[in-house]
Amino acid sequence: MNPIKILIIGNGGVGKKSVIEQFCYSQFIQYYDRGIEDSYRKQVVIDNEILIIEFANYMDYWGDLDYMKQRIYQEPHGFIVVYSINDKYSFNELENYLNEIYKYREVEEFPIIIIGNKNDLEDQRVITKEEGEEFANKYFCPFFETSAKTRSNVEETVFTLLREIRKY
Ligand code: GDP
Ligand code: MG
Repeated sequence: MNPIKILIIGNGGVGKKSVIEQFCYSQFIQYYDRGIEDSYRKQVVIDNEILIIEFANYMDYWGDLDYMKQRIYQEPHGFIVVYSINDKYSFNELENYLNEIYKYREVEEFPIIIIGNKNDLEDQRVITKEEGEEFANKYFCPFFETSAKTRSNVEETVFTLLREIRKY
């Protein structure tokens, strides 16, 4: 069975790896960001169908090489673009990530979900949920606030993306 490939992108530290680990292993480890990025696989059942999902985490060391990006962005069936609700800079960068996806994926359909992660850190919030929603609406993307710590909306995010992918 060919895996469904999902690429998760966003600034360093927003919780990309943690969201994947919470989805795949139901665990949250408050580690210091080790900068080690892997790919993860998980089998899921969606609408009575068995699928294998393969997650890749965008790696900084892929760099800015055009041919590398071509490969990175061509492969996935769908994208999760992440900011964290306590990091304005990560929110401001969203547009750049989306532009990159659009740049390298001119023709095919490619579902994108936008998530505002770390919504358990309410006291540190600097981006309102409405700001997140408004941004996502502009790009016609589904939007969730998530927490890799509490698992809030983590499954919803992945399952919504899978359903979008299966439409194509
Ligand atoms: P990445 O660089 O985007 O892959 O982010 P990481 O998954 O490495 O997470 C960076 C740091 O943020 C780690 O210390 C995580 O434990 C922490 N973190 C990630 N997601 C959450 C979350 O939803 N809530 C809280 N409180 N901390 C988080
Ligand atoms: Mg990291």
